[in-house]
Amino acid sequence: MTEDKKYPFIKDDDSRIAALHSYHILDTAEEKDFDDLTTLASVICQTPIALVSLVDKDRQWFKSHKGLAATETPREYSFCAHGIAKPGELFIVPDATTDDRFKDNPLVTGYPDIVFYAGKPLINNQGFALGSLCVIDQQKRELSAEQINALTVLAKQVTDKLELRRKLIEITATEKKQAMLNEELIAANVKLVLSNDQLEQTNHELSTTQLKLQQAVETGNLEELRKNDFIGMISHELKTPLTSLSGYIQLLQTKAKTDDKFTSLALGKSGLQVKKMITMITGFLNVSRLESGKIVLHKQTFRLDELIENVIEDISLTELGHVIINEPCVPIYVDADLDKIGNVISNLVSNAIKYSPNGTDIRIHCTSTEGMVQVSVEDKGMGIAPADLEHLFERYYRVEGEHTQLISGFGIGLYLCAEIVGIHKGRIWAESTVGQGSTFHFSLPLA
Ligand code: ADP
Repeated sequence: MTEDKKYPFIKDDDSRIAALHSYHILDTAEEKDFDDLTTLASVICQTPIALVSLVDKDRQWFKSHKGLAATETPREYSFCAHGIAKPGELFIVPDATTDDRFKDNPLVTGYPDIVFYAGKPLINNQGFALGSLCVIDQQKRELSAEQINALTVLAKQVTDKLELRRKLIEITATEKKQAMLNEELIAANVKLVLSNDQLEQTNHELSTTQLKLQQAVETGNLEELRKNDFIGMISHELKTPLTSLSGYIQLLQTKAKTDDKFTSLALGKSGLQVKKMITMITGFLNVSRLESGKIVLHKQTFRLDELIENVIEDISLTELGHVIINEPCVPIYVDADLDKIGNVISNLVSNAIKYSPNGTDIRIHCTSTEGMVQVSVEDKGMGIAPADLEHLFERYYRVEGEHTQLISGFGIGLYLCAEIVGIHKGRIWAESTVGQGSTFHFSLPLA
C-alpha cells in the first residue's frame, strides 16, 4: 500500500492512467455492447452484480453496471484496484466480511453489501491493466472452472471492444483532419488559379500596350509613350499577382508542413523564386519612379545600427552559404527614410553574397566621423576591375564576363542605391581588387 492512499501500489500508475484516458471512454454514456457482456457475466457466474470497472486516478468508474445503481466509487474502496495490482491473475475474494483488507469497506458494511468478489483485469495491448470485468454477490460462493474460463473470455471481449472503440475514434479524427486539409488545399488552389487569371489579364494588357506602342511609332508619337512609363506600368501590373502568388505559396507551405516533405520543399523553392522576381520587379518600378521624379522620402530618426542588424537577420534566414559578420558598433542615429536605407543595405549585402563564393565571410561595419556615418560591406569575392569600378553605379550597368554571365541581375541595384544615398546627401563608392574581393561604402549625415 502507498503511505497516504488505502489502495495497493501500482508500478507506473501515471502511464497506466494516461493509457486509460487515451480511450476517451470515462464518463461516456452506457453502450449496449458492454452491457451485453456484463449481463452474460452475471448470468454465467450466477451473481446479481457484474461490472466493467475502469480504475482512474482517484476513482473507479463503471462503463457498465449490471445490478448496481452507482456509476463510480472512490478508488480507496475499489476491489478492482486490488485486482489490477496483479494484472495476470483472476482476483477472488471469497468472503469480504472476514477479509482484513475489506471487512471495514463501506461497500461491505453497507450497500451493496459485497461478500463475494471475482474480477478479471482488463489488459490493453500495451500491457496496462485499465480495470476489470468483475462479478459480485451478497453471499459467500465459489466459481467453477468453466465459470472462471468464461469470465476470462468475456474480459478479453471487453478489452477488444475498448481497442476497437479507440481505433474508430482515431480513424474518424484522421478522416476529419484529412477532409479539412483537402478543403483548404482546394480553396488555396482556387485562389492560385485566380492569381493566374490576373496574370493572364496582365498579359492581355501588355499586348494592348505593345499595340499602342506600335501605333505610336507608326504615327510618330513615340515621345508620348516614354520607355520609362512603359517599364513602370508593366512592373506595377506584374507585382500585384506576384505578391498574391507569394502569399498563397506561404499559405500552402504552412498547410503542407506536417506530413509532406517533398511538397513543402518544392513550395519553399517556389517561394524563393517568386521573392526574387518581386525584388527585380520592385527594382524596375523604383527606377521608373526615380526617373519620373516620383520618389518621395519618408524621413524619421532611427538607429542605423539596429536597422543593419535587422536586415542581416532577415537575409540570414535564407542565406546559409556565407558567414555574415556584423561588427558591433555604438548606437548611431540618422534622420532618413528607413525602408529605402534598408533596401540599400540589403542590396549591398545581397551583391556581396551573389558575387563571392560560398563559405567566404561577409563583413559589415560602421564608423562615424565629422557628422557623417559610414557603412561598409566587405566581401572576399571575385572583385571588380578598375575599368568597371567607375561605371558600377550607372543604370543597367553590369560587368561583362564568364562569372557574371551566370548570375542573374539587370544592373539596377547599385544605380538605385546611389540615387537613394544621393537624395539623402550621402555618398556611395566601392574599392576592389580582382580575385580578392570588394568593399562597398556609403555615408549618411548623422541626425
Ligand atoms: P545586378 O547585380 O542586378 O547585376 P547591381 O547594380 O547590383 O546589379 O550591380 C551591378 C554590377 O556590379 C553587377 O552586375 C556586378 O557585375 C557588379 N557587382 C556588384 N556588386 C559586386 C560585388 N560585391 N562583387 C563583384 N561585383 C559586383
